Amino acid sequence: MTPGTAEDLSGDIDYRDAADLGLRRNMISSVALEVIDALQWSDYKSYVVGGSVRDLLLGKTPKDYDVVTDAHPGQVLELFPRCRIVGRRFRIVHVYLRGELVEVSTFRSLWKPEDKARNRGGRMVRNGQIIRDNRYGSLHEDIFRRDFTVNSIYYDPCGGKVIAHRNALEDIESRCLRFIGADARARYREDPVRMLRAVRLAAKAELQMHDEVEHHIAPSASLLGNVPPARLFQEFSKIFRSGAALEIYHLLRRYKLFDVMFPSVRECLDRDDESGRGEVLVELLFSRIDQRIAAGKSVMSAFPMAVMLWLPVTCRLRGRKTSAAALRKLLKEALSAQRRYIATPAWIADNGMDICLLQPHFGSRRKASLLRLAEHPGFAAAYNLMCLCADAGLGDPDTAEWWTRFRQSDESERRSMIERRASGRRRRGRG
Ligand code: ATP
Ligand code: MG
Repeated sequence: MTPGTAEDLSGDIDYRDAADLGLRRNMISSVALEVIDALQWSDYKSYVVGGSVRDLLLGKTPKDYDVVTDAHPGQVLELFPRCRIVGRRFRIVHVYLRGELVEVSTFRSLWKPEDKARNRGGRMVRNGQIIRDNRYGSLHEDIFRRDFTVNSIYYDPCGGKVIAHRNALEDIESRCLRFIGADARARYREDPVRMLRAVRLAAKAELQMHDEVEHHIAPSASLLGNVPPARLFQEFSKIFRSGAALEIYHLLRRYKLFDVMFPSVRECLDRDDESGRGEVLVELLFSRIDQRIAAGKSVMSAFPMAVMLWLPVTCRLRGRKTSAAALRKLLKEALSAQRRYIATPAWIADNGMDICLLQPHFGSRRKASLLRLAEHPGFAAAYNLMCLCADAGLGDPDTAEWWTRFRQSDESERRSMIERRASGRRRRGRG
């Protein structure tokens, strides 16, 4: 919470020509430009802000373009035919244009000392944590309400101007991730998700965490437990889709954040019954996801969630075979334990359960079971988990090899492979 008034802080704001910073209008997505133009035509202020401007200045391709305005959410709704207000804690508008989404937020006002004591006007604080923050303010106030200096840069592509927090451009230059406001512990208390944002941005945007940002993460890690599990799911999704998931995973482990997000997995990794194979499995998961993202492929949310369920369940089974019903029960228990921390939406959790429930079928020699597996809509994802386990030393490499050949075969060859496997006439090396 940054005390003071916007006037007190106006000396801490930088005004620049966008061209001097190498920013041009055509670097912004056409839908974001359309949203900005529409707002400005209606006499509202509007800027591209946050990660997209940061990434452009760092020479990276932005993932999406966030827009900020002085129009209140209700006023934004009036301008666009397809949009809706989302979020309770922090209300923003999702505007859909030509199949793309642009997030439009409204300038937030500064915190005044009395705000800490009372919950009022759309703002609510509990034990230092911001529960709701929907009190609107000016651009100058908004600048000091952002998390990190490098995210507090506002680009007006129509006027060709940039307005930024005083330290933002030098921090971009030196690639430093630094909080706005000196008290890092308080910033984590206000919003513990900032710890996840810090590690994600450090890894993804290749920024060096300032000492203050880094030193207070591990001691504050348990605060993550106060974050609504649905929000943690969204943050976890941003992590595994970031393209730097493996590096972020290492940081999450180092700063004990992973322990709060996935306690059962952590317990299993610490027990290390399988001499580090669980750790290899999780590392392989994130490195393969990074490879998929780098290749422009999609990543289904159910897959990492399935791995996070499968590992504690196999840890509990310790190689013992179990019935389908018992496996389902164990998975359900693991899922409900995990949901206390990260609330996976029901349809994603169901897909994750399917991926796990299909695992025992890969070793089957029954024709009906093999056919059902091969035709199941979750087959490809289940195959990927089976191979991941085999590669980590937690599964049978021969089974993985057989199914890899199966996937590469045409329809008729697949049928005869199943026949041969079912009749037990499996010839070494050729199946
Ligand atoms: P990404 O490239 O992953 O989208 P981003 O920084 O743009 O990174 P968003 O979640 O899109 O992340 O948020 C947009 C902007 O909103 C941020 O750049 C930052 O200015 C502000 N912001 C987001 N989360 C917080 C937070 N928890 N506290 C303060 N400001 C935040
Ligand atoms: Mg963004």
